[in-house]
Amino acid sequence: MRLKLVVGNWKMHGGIEQNQCLLDLVVEGTRALKGVSCVVCTPYPYLSQTQSLLGNTHILWGAQNVSQYDKEGAYTGEVSAKMLIDFLCHYVIVGHSERRIMYGEDSLTVALKFRAVQRVGLIPILCVGETLEQREAGITEQILAEQLDAVIELMGVDALAKSVLAYEPVWAIGTGKTATPQQAQGAHIFIRNRVLAHNDKIAAELKILYGGSVKANNATELFTMPDIDGGLIGGSSLIANEFIAICHAAQN
Ligand code: PEP
Repeated sequence: MRLKLVVGNWKMHGGIEQNQCLLDLVVEGTRALKGVSCVVCTPYPYLSQTQSLLGNTHILWGAQNVSQYDKEGAYTGEVSAKMLIDFLCHYVIVGHSERRIMYGEDSLTVALKFRAVQRVGLIPILCVGETLEQREAGITEQILAEQLDAVIELMGVDALAKSVLAYEPVWAIGTGKTATPQQAQGAHIFIRNRVLAHNDKIAAELKILYGGSVKANNATELFTMPDIDGGLIGGSSLIANEFIAICHAAQN
């Protein structure tokens, strides 16, 4: 059985004081949870603070991006996977649509980032998803396949055993438009079947999160779908009560 996972993606939000307040509330509010892992991915400058606030708690943490380069060097502004180890990160988001679209990361770059994360023993959360135009053009599955296959081609399917996938339709991110549970389930089963064509055990164990305007009031219906194993939560992860309620929804 796949245990549920709820990951908060804070994006470029935060501040020393507000982080402390939010994290204290989230720790307290999720203390009694059973069978759900909670993770927060905070901005780089706050990883040290995150580590000291969460170090002795049940909540894990991670980063939102990483350099594709393993070796240190002249990469101004970049952060390597090895550096993230120093902050005891567990997870790193790669291929978020904001990175793909706003920073021009193609699927090969995302696959190289995935590899950099795994090489240091961290767990990549690989985001895949189609834009509205792609959905309307009927090419959602083609897009998901291309984004997933880039990792399988570079790394081999076995690499997915130590990773998490997140299906995030771009049209649902930060827009308030959520995919219906059936739309999300359809994409998740497509992704799982694509992995299954290579390896049935890895496919059966692979956690596939849904992301895109998940809120306390729609989380339960999404999380009860058979192939949705939790959520990647943006805006709602910045509101303690919302995030806590979403984590609880994953428990049911
Ligand atoms: C995200 O940032 O991955 C995300 C899903 O954002 P939101 O929940 O705000 O749509």
